[in-house]
Amino acid sequence: MTKLTDKVALVTGGARGIGAAIVDRYAAEGAQVAVADVDLAAAEATAARHGARAFPLALDVTKAASIEAAVESVAARWGGIDILVNNAGIFDMAPIVDVTEASFDRVFAVNVKGLFFTLQAVARRMIARGQGGKIINMASQAGRRGEALVAVYCASKAAVISLTQSAGLDLIRYRINVNGIAPGVVDTPMWDHVDALFAKYEHRAVGEKKRLVGEAVPFGRMGLPEDYAGAAAFLASSDSDYVVAQTLNVDGGNWMS
Ligand code: NAD
Repeated sequence: MTKLTDKVALVTGGARGIGAAIVDRYAAEGAQVAVADVDLAAAEATAARHGARAFPLALDVTKAASIEAAVESVAARWGGIDILVNNAGIFDMAPIVDVTEASFDRVFAVNVKGLFFTLQAVARRMIARGQGGKIINMASQAGRRGEALVAVYCASKAAVISLTQSAGLDLIRYRINVNGIAPGVVDTPMWDHVDALFAKYEHRAVGEKKRLVGEAVPFGRMGLPEDYAGAAAFLASSDSDYVVAQTLNVDGGNWMS
């Protein structure tokens, strides 16, 4: 596996879950990977699996100065950034009448504003360097349609799909491909949080919602973080040079669009 030999990748939210599986695959494909996360200790543990191929980086995508410092530190260490995986994201849910302003702001600050300004900071450097690049935004099947209890998260992921289209169209002239991945339901720490919230709002036993959504996937089970590594490697490689502004559903058949 050497699809990404000597490419430099920055993976946000790379400490665990889907992001960590992408870090593992990129390192196996020969890339140098910056594991950027608000949870630095977890980022250190993930990066440590790959020796000199990976390094941990403190990053809070809700803070412009943190984005700038992280992007600068990767460029200074490895000479530039070839691949950005804009994966950091958070989840919250509530009935419409119970959504708080604080929850709304937090979800949009990470999932939309943080994703956009990380993309912008990396794109500026890619343009200045003149070697193109690959940007992969983590959307969701939640961005394809609304859900009664998940209005704000769904809207944030619809925004990710939209930003992927606009940025993809704007940046392809610099040979920067911007594409997205829309996961379905994936067994990560995030889904334990999702399950706990569904238990609260739908009066279910803990674990029940997770079991039901897994059984409903046409593939027959929930996704695993490693189910995302192949799509992320493809979209980071030259095999996807002619793929522009798309969001790819990787969801075991949950959604078609
Ligand atoms: P996760 O919660 O397991 O991991 C997310 C990572 O992002 C964590 O390491 C966390 O510390 C980091 N993070 C959170 N806020 C951050 C911030 N402000 N700055 C930097 N890092 C931050 O989640 P996951 O399930 O691996 O999800 C990864 C991405 O995939 C997210 O964008 C999520 O919305 C999306 N997604 C997940 C699922 C699913 O079912 N798990 C489905 C669709 C989409």
